[in-house]
Amino acid sequence: MNLSVSDLLIHNIGLLATPLSQDRAQWAERVEKIPQAAILIHDGRIAVVGAEAEVLAQSPAQVERFDAQGALATPGLVDCHTHPIFVGNRAAEFHLRNAGKTYLEMAAAGGGIQATARKVREATTERLIEESLPRFHRSLTCGVTTLEAKSGYGLDWEGERKSLRAIREIETHIPQRVHSTFLIHALPAEYRERRGDFCAEVVERMIPSVAAEGLAEAVDVFCENGAFTVEESRRFLRAAQERGLSCMVHANQFGHSGGALLAAEVGAGSAHHLEYLNEEEMLALAAARTTGVALPASVFFLGDLPYPPVRRMIALGMRVAVATDMNPGSAMTESLPFCMTAAAIYCQMTPEELLWATTFNAAEVVNAEDEVGSLEAGKRGDVALWKLPDLESLSYHFGELRAAAVFIGGKPVWRDPDASSRY
Ligand SMILES: [Zn+2]
Repeated sequence: MNLSVSDLLIHNIGLLATPLSQDRAQWAERVEKIPQAAILIHDGRIAVVGAEAEVLAQSPAQVERFDAQGALATPGLVDCHTHPIFVGNRAAEFHLRNAGKTYLEMAAAGGGIQATARKVREATTERLIEESLPRFHRSLTCGVTTLEAKSGYGLDWEGERKSLRAIREIETHIPQRVHSTFLIHALPAEYRERRGDFCAEVVERMIPSVAAEGLAEAVDVFCENGAFTVEESRRFLRAAQERGLSCMVHANQFGHSGGALLAAEVGAGSAHHLEYLNEEEMLALAAARTTGVALPASVFFLGDLPYPPVRRMIALGMRVAVATDMNPGSAMTESLPFCMTAAAIYCQMTPEELLWATTFNAAEVVNAEDEVGSLEAGKRGDVALWKLPDLESLSYHFGELRAAAVFIGGKPVWRDPDASSRY
């Protein structure tokens, strides 16, 4: 995207709601709320933010203005867990599952991740980009200005490298900032009898190449019964750390897999899913300062798992983020606002917690909290406007909620042509 505007005054904001860096330690308790507010953006960064009268007094007379028409302003949202790089869909599988087959049964029968992997390997890079790119646009319309994107449906190195390169190519076509993650997702079918060979390939070839070629900022591993063991996952994560890549773990989705304790042991920045999490695991994650990422859309979509025990996680001192898990098998949605609603209902998260979980805390998961995740002077001018009267309404309207307008670095990058007020 090549837009020239990077100085902008967004005025007539009905209510501005944002986390503040200074409240980081008490994140679950406090959100800054400023009625009748404005934001002055200079050179793509927030210069002044606050009550409209104060911001206007400090704004140059000739600055370009955007009338928010009383909208709710929040930081651009951060979706810190997505799998957007794939071709085809798994709609038929979705209905088979609803008819009684389990996710793991279908995976064992060659469906699931392996089915998507076959399609990704057969697809050209152009086709992979063509099908994946619109998902990033839909995410933007839901207010997301920064997102994490994983590979993970290539499985072998050729497929994974194609997927990671597709993310890098897509980045050049979209306004959002993308954080790329190499996901070690499942054993490729052709390695079924040669498990050790594949693990060696990951450690000796894939992770070093990811680092050397700058294909990703992080490594993620699916540590689960049916995917990778704790010992295998530990080897992968240690290899990633040796190469300076940050670490995430898909942990404890289907049981007490050991993934959460491993994430704490290696000091991973985040552990994702955590549907099965006991107090020992929560305390370990809290002590290791590993953020727990709740993915309520996948629990909703799979239908037979418990929601992560977020209230207890917060009570025991964990930081929590909420993300979509956008993927063809277990969460076919780009809507982070929908995930807020699900987390409100099923994880009993408050509107204030949900804002932190989808902005500041999520920015920490991708190591971008100094740049994005709150509306504070010095940060990038990433702003989402919502035709809503208050913060509570952001998770109350569900299923079709889009941002009225989105700005990245002070540039208007999305405007809903049909944004009507909700009261
Ligand atoms: Zn995932």
